[in-house]
Parts: sequence; structure tokens; C-alpha cells
Amino acid sequence: MTPDLSKITIEKKPFEGEMHDVMGGSGRWEVKVHDHGLVALTDVMPRFAPAGKTADFAIVQAARVSYGAGTKQVNEDRGLVRYLARHRHTTPFEMVEFKFHHVMPIFIARQWIRHRTANVNEYSGRYSVVPDRFYKPSIENVRKQSTSNRQGGEEPIDNATAKEFLTYLDKVEEAYKEYQRLMDKGVAREIARIGLPVNVYTEWYWKIDLHNLFHFLSLRMDAHAQQEIRDYANAMYALVQPIVPVAAEAFLDYNFGSLHLSRLEVEALKSGKPLASENKRENAEWEDKKKKLGL
Ligand SMILES: Cc1cc2nc3c(=O)[nH]c(=O)nc-3n(C[C@H](O)[C@H](O)[C@H](O)COP(=O)(O)OP(=O)(O)OC[C@H]3O[C@@H](n4cnc5c(N)ncnc54)[C@H](O)[C@@H]3O)c2cc1C
Repeated sequence: MTPDLSKITIEKKPFEGEMHDVMGGSGRWEVKVHDHGLVALTDVMPRFAPAGKTADFAIVQAARVSYGAGTKQVNEDRGLVRYLARHRHTTPFEMVEFKFHHVMPIFIARQWIRHRTANVNEYSGRYSVVPDRFYKPSIENVRKQSTSNRQGGEEPIDNATAKEFLTYLDKVEEAYKEYQRLMDKGVAREIARIGLPVNVYTEWYWKIDLHNLFHFLSLRMDAHAQQEIRDYANAMYALVQPIVPVAAEAFLDYNFGSLHLSRLEVEALKSGKPLASENKRENAEWEDKKKKLGL
């Protein structure tokens, strides 16, 4: 069965006015991360913007469907984008999309894949041999377990222990030779790979809209995220910032650099009294926020 398309007419209209490629005619913008890692921006929607405008125009264009045409001055576009960001009117931001190529260790990919709003296509260790690439932190990045935060590690550990750790990683990498040897003996790639460590690199294409990218960045550029994924998130921010400078600035102003206060914190701030909570963690968080506020 083929559909009857004979009554459908496609009208191909020219752009209104002069347009420019938001990636400046480039096929790919790359940032190297760590030893073998990579964040590459491979495409953007909208790829073309009216002369003198950035891809922020697509956010404004979508928003004006709901707010009406109004005036179209660039400074008013900026005001509108910032208004949308402040008031969490998020769907206009979904009109901008980014396609990335990422190369990262599997332990980072495990954290990353929890962000379900992206479209992902990953390298297959069933079809292809996993390349011989392993993440090895620099010596100052062999971090000591934090005592205040069970998930984190901030300070570098002493040099001798760091070296011991790096030797341990070298031994783990030795497993790669066995992986190759056993595949040569006929073990299937899908089985041979299960002995590889989580610092081996994988790669994928990852497509996401700007609203969901900002959500990802707010969590993964944050100081609570593991340093290694933060390095990737910062590279992604650096890549999209020149494409959507107005939205990127609004993200820093109203999301990433903002401070959320709970009802109890607002009460404590108004009354000047201690936080009405006996929870130690909550009190420590309130102390941190007060420091940020210069109180
Ligand atoms: C510092 C840090 C520590 C973490 N520690 C752990 C940990 O110890 N263990 C662990 O398992 N995870 C951990 N995570 C992962 C975390 O719990 C989230 O899974 C991850 O950050 C993705 O967030 P998200 O669900 O908001 O994002 P996305 O999956 O991108 O979703 C975006 C938003 O879409 C909505 N959404 C998407 N899918 C659904 C759905 N199925 N149902 C309802 N709403 C949906 C939600 O509103 C969500 O916020 C950690 C994350 C961070 C940043």
C-alpha cells in the first residue's frame, strides 16, 4: 500500500530576508575533554537565523505565537527571552535543538543516561570492538573521600596514594589484552566486553532541546555533580553559549546562579530567627545559603 499524495501541493518559499548559518559555516565545533574525551556540536535547529540575530530568535518566534507580534526590536527580544526564563515559560526554549557527539568513559555515561529527555544513539560493543581508550585522572584529580558529603571527593589525596591508585588503573587496563586475546579465540564481542572496566570510553550522538539541556546543565554544571561530568557539562555550555547568547545568559541569571529558598528559610530570613527545623543537613544548607547571600 502506498499513500495517495497526489492532492498534496508543497509550496517552497524563500527565507524572508538575509539569513546566516549560526555555526558560521562550520560542520562541527569540538572541545577536547580529559585524555580521550570529546564534546562536539554537530548541528543546531534553527541552523539559519536572520541577519543580525542569533538562534535565540526561534525562542522569540515561538513565544510570539502566544504573546502576539508586538514590536520586533532586538532589545525587546532579549527582554522577552529573559521574561520567559524568569517565569518558567519553557516551551519556547524547546524550539531550539542541539545535536552533539560525545566521547566519554562508561562511568560518566552511566550518570548521563539518567537524563531521559535526550535522543541517544550509542556505539555498540556487540557490533564493534571497543577501542583501547581508558580514562586516567591527572594525579591532582585522584581525590580524597569527602567526610561531609558521602557522594563526593574534593581535595586531592596525598601523592603516594594517588600514584598507587594510578598503578591500580594501569593493572585494570591490562584486562584489554585479555579482551582482545579471547575475541581472537572466538569469544563473541558482546560477551568479551563484559570484563572491561568502567573507565573505558564509549561514544554516542545525543540530541536535546534547549529547555532540557538547561535542566541537564543546571544539575551537571553544579558543584554537587562529579567533577568529570561537570567538565563535559561546562564544555557543552561553552559550545551553545555563542549560538543562543541571550538564553544562555538568562540561564545563568535565573537558573544556575539563582538561589532557591524554602518556606522555612523565607520565614527565618524575615524574622531573623533560627531555621524552624531540627534537621542538621537542612540547617547546614541554610548556613551555606546565608553565606552566599552575605548574611
Ligand atoms: C548530584 C547528583 C547525584 C545523583 N545521585 C544519584 C544516585 O545516587 N542514584 C540515582 O539513582 N540517581 C542519582 N542521580 C540522578 C538523578 O536522580 C536524576 O535521575 C538525574 O539527575 C536526571 O534528572 P531528571 O530526572 O530531572 O532528568 P530527565 O530524565 O532529563 O528528566 C527531566 C524532567 O522530565 C520529567 N520526567 C522525565 N521522565 C519522567 C518520568 N518517567 N516520570 C515523571 N517525570 C519525568 C521530570 O520532571 C524530570 O525532572 C543524581 C543526580 C545528581 C545531579
